Amino acid sequence: MSRKNIVAVVGRPNVGKSTLFNALAGSRIAIVQDTPGVTRDRIYQDVEWLNHNFTLIDTGGIEPDSKDVILSQMREQAQIAIDTADVIIFMVDVKQGLTDSDSKVADMLRKSGKPIVLCVNKVDNFNRDSLDVYEFYNLGIGEPFPISAINKQGIGDLLEEVVSHFVKDSVNDTEDDTTKIAIIGKPNVGKSSIINKLIGENRLIVSDIAGTTRDAIDTEVKYNGKKYTFIDTAGLRRKNKIKDELEHYMIVRTVGAVERADIAILVINAEEGVTEQDAKIAGIAHESGKAVIIAVNKWDLIEKDNHSVKEFTKDIRNTLAFMNYAEIIFISAETGQRLVKLYDMIDMVSENHALRVSTGVLNEIMTQAVVMQQPPSDKGKILKLYYITQASVKPPTFVIFVNDKKLMHFSYTRYIENQIREAFGFKGTPLRFIIRERK
Ligand code: GDP
Ligand code: GDP
Repeated sequence: MSRKNIVAVVGRPNVGKSTLFNALAGSRIAIVQDTPGVTRDRIYQDVEWLNHNFTLIDTGGIEPDSKDVILSQMREQAQIAIDTADVIIFMVDVKQGLTDSDSKVADMLRKSGKPIVLCVNKVDNFNRDSLDVYEFYNLGIGEPFPISAINKQGIGDLLEEVVSHFVKDSVNDTEDDTTKIAIIGKPNVGKSSIINKLIGENRLIVSDIAGTTRDAIDTEVKYNGKKYTFIDTAGLRRKNKIKDELEHYMIVRTVGAVERADIAILVINAEEGVTEQDAKIAGIAHESGKAVIIAVNKWDLIEKDNHSVKEFTKDIRNTLAFMNYAEIIFISAETGQRLVKLYDMIDMVSENHALRVSTGVLNEIMTQAVVMQQPPSDKGKILKLYYITQASVKPPTFVIFVNDKKLMHFSYTRYIENQIREAFGFKGTPLRFIIRERK
């Protein structure tokens, strides 16, 4: 399974990070429906450039309110980038020139050994400003790439340099026989406790597997003759942090962990119920296309009656309506309740995530679906569905050929999806649909 590389942008406030984000936003592939109910902040974004897909992360949290904190904030940003990214874009501003904080952060980035690409922004006039760009060689992190984010100039060369550093994991793919599971969720829901209990005596290695970040610890486990790698996002807790900053950090780390995984287990605290913050984290897993299990933890603390499971499930389905495919399990890391069952569930959703359905059977289902419910029409023109085929797995992605894309409403796609799910289950995995026109 190939994973997306992660590119983090580090830079002082106002150097133009958001502007670069916006410049690259246009290339976002639109096969994923926007996740309803989840506010989309600009912290991370998928970028498609030439044949490369990657996730861009803005590590710049909130605006510092005084000059004194800029450096400490930048160090923090740089550390997040070092922890999570495959490649770091260090952005500076040609108009402001080289600053002391730039030099200090450059030192820190250089020592990390991560690939760093130096991006000099606001070079709006390449002839006039090019001499000023040379100054940035002094940072000691190599060749500066001049861009004008606002005019979208120089971005091609910058990205070419960025992608040249990408980790190519195609070789490892075939040898990789371990299922990778990211344990995600708010602080204190019990992520670490679950992992500790799951690994119990089965722990193989706790180590710095290549690509392991300092925060996200990978633990490889053998259970029933199969290998599992748990990616923990709990890690260190930072004291005295403002809420927004903590949340930003949590999101960045979740994106990083989910990207490396096949399956995300979203842990929810049974005592609190499902919250807005849970929804935000769920949105990350949803958009990544990974298989999802929702684990309601601390179930031992709940006064239960016959309706508890049903009511809890209803709550989750309402709040996280965009991921109705997710499996739900009620567990306790404290007592160990249903943790063994969690392994079975991981196997099941992992198989579904990689499931392939033959074109013949798919077309039978679609033909029948069309007979049962007439496709939508507009101004006398009726939607025709010609052909369906499965293009890829992880997640299962289907291409439907139709006469007119505009007629294919989301609700009808959802209907087809439901018919496919009825036939094959696909429990725990999202399905994606690409609608193509064939004249
Ligand atoms: P951030 O704080 O790093 O995210 O910076 P922003 O993207 O918000 O940009 C800060 C300011 O710099 C805004 O007023 C932008 O319009 C401006 N800016 C960004 N890119 C360029 C550029 O390429 N040239 C010029 N002249 N201004 C830019
Ligand atoms: P994390 O921040 O998500 O990794 O959460 P931790 O694993 O550190 O757990 C936070 C707190 O909840 C700790 O005090 C745990 O002992 C407690 N805890 C975790 N799981 C359970 C559970 O299933 N039941 C109960 N009663 N407490 C739990």
